[in-house]
Amino acid sequence: MSSIIGIDLGTTNSLIAAWHNGESRLITNAAGSYLTPSAVSFDNDHVLIGEAAANRVITHPAETFSYFKRDMGTPKRFGNGRKALRAEDLSALVIRQLLDDAELVLGTRPSEAVISVPAYFSDAQRHATRAAGQIAGLTVERLINEPTAAAMAHGLHENADGRTIVVIDLGGGTLDVSVVECFDGVMEVHASAGDNNLGGRDFDELLRAWFVKTHSIDYIGLELSARNRLVRACQQARHDLSSSHNTELTITAGKGRRQKTYTSALDRAHFEKLAAPLLNRLQIVVERAIRDCRLSLQAIDDIVLVGGATRMPVVRNLIGRMFRRLPAANVDPDQIVARGAAIQAALKARDSSLEDVVLTDVSPYTLGIGIARETDRDQWSEGFYLPIIERNSRVPVSRMDTVHPISELQKTVTVPIFQGESRLVKNNIRLGEIEVPVGKGDDRSVQVRFTYDINGILEVDVEVPGTGEHRNLVINSSGKMLSEEDIRKSLQSISHLKVLPRETIQNVTTLSRAERMYEEALGEERSYIGELIARFERILDGQDPEQIDAARAELAQLLDDLDQGRFR
Ligand code: ADP
Ligand code: MG
Repeated sequence: MSSIIGIDLGTTNSLIAAWHNGESRLITNAAGSYLTPSAVSFDNDHVLIGEAAANRVITHPAETFSYFKRDMGTPKRFGNGRKALRAEDLSALVIRQLLDDAELVLGTRPSEAVISVPAYFSDAQRHATRAAGQIAGLTVERLINEPTAAAMAHGLHENADGRTIVVIDLGGGTLDVSVVECFDGVMEVHASAGDNNLGGRDFDELLRAWFVKTHSIDYIGLELSARNRLVRACQQARHDLSSSHNTELTITAGKGRRQKTYTSALDRAHFEKLAAPLLNRLQIVVERAIRDCRLSLQAIDDIVLVGGATRMPVVRNLIGRMFRRLPAANVDPDQIVARGAAIQAALKARDSSLEDVVLTDVSPYTLGIGIARETDRDQWSEGFYLPIIERNSRVPVSRMDTVHPISELQKTVTVPIFQGESRLVKNNIRLGEIEVPVGKGDDRSVQVRFTYDINGILEVDVEVPGTGEHRNLVINSSGKMLSEEDIRKSLQSISHLKVLPRETIQNVTTLSRAERMYEEALGEERSYIGELIARFERILDGQDPEQIDAARAELAQLLDDLDQGRFR
């Protein structure tokens, strides 16, 4: 077995996979699922991770965090006081949970990993992901772009030699599109495009906005738990529409006598109309990826749909219309990225059961610097963009350009570094800056070299040949990147947080689900769930493991029945 494992650290769900006997093998968590929701909740001294935490978004919203992947690499803190954590720390807790599960199944605790990231993740987000792995005690051997991982898993299983594949990954919070060509054991990514703020969650928000407007609900005035319940109900309605044509959205808000129940019917056609702006954004990104590799939609052989949100018929129909063909069958949209990460891990470990696959990837966006241009004679205007590495350049890549000080008097040159496509730097993302003295000699030119490695991490070197002066920067956008010291401190602080023993995780998870459903239900159904909870708690107090297991299975079944609309 390969000693390196693959991790898909998702916005919504995370997975861990190992390479075993020539195959990728997914690892189940304590609840028996491959998917561990990327949610963390604090409960007194304990920290709950996964499904139990995801349920507590409704019952304990102030102590519960999810969707933090969107905030990786930012200074945002979650929670307060001693427990205020960064998105990196929360992600590390999720990774630590995955490692606990892997250790149980594999017999040893993995110490090295390949972690997947959205292709469109920025430099700061990539650093943050690597830091999260380190905080969880891992050596992160490599970051792999999620759609690239998916293409690799697909290519390996389906013998895609000679085929061009488009991978469309629509998860909970991000969209990634990559075009990959496979030939003679080489998988070459030609182009990637994406949107770091487009996923299933945005469709939920859209439904939420529509519902709130339809019923003139004072959304901001609602309690946090009621707001979360509303978004969850929207998500449920959206999921319903993936299997049936109509659904109904019901939500109760307000307190005491001012409590009101609102209901709206929704069908696929109406949802499609509401979702049009998001579908339009999705289409633009897909078209851009195809256009960037100078291909036509007809040149694509396989369409690989990845991510839970591609289960939406509105998304499948749009893609079907665009490409005039069906997506590849045999793709599990939830699992394929983790499997690809495990394949990359096996390649990294030089596992003999895997023939060498050469993988080449690209930089998803343009990287460059800000410069001044002479707009008139001796009139300089700042803020122009000089691209150095253009988007979809094959990585690793190293490119150099030369700039000069504007005036004779200037003692130093400041090189601001940006990511983006706009002609004006103010529209691009600023990654950092480097300042160098330029000396007094004849040669005051400044050489700027950008090196972008296979993990998508940028290094900038600035050299003044006239003086030999040299500066180097691994991009650190405004001090947000964690230092080794930060990582060590974080490691210590999360190691104080206790997780529940595995035997009790299942009980707590089932109980948290019942508590959540209690809050979501009303009337008779609600008191029925209340009875079920009380009964299960009595059995838990009895501390008889066999009885507890049986009661938990029974409770889970009854809750499933309720979810299916079968009430008693
Ligand atoms: P991530 O990569 O962000 O962790 P996933 O690939 O797990 O995300 O996808 C999560 C998204 O998929 C959520 O927004 C969820 O609502 C959506 N999703 C999952 N199943 C369905 C379904 N049957 N119909 C519609 N959307 C779904
Ligand atoms: Mg994903």
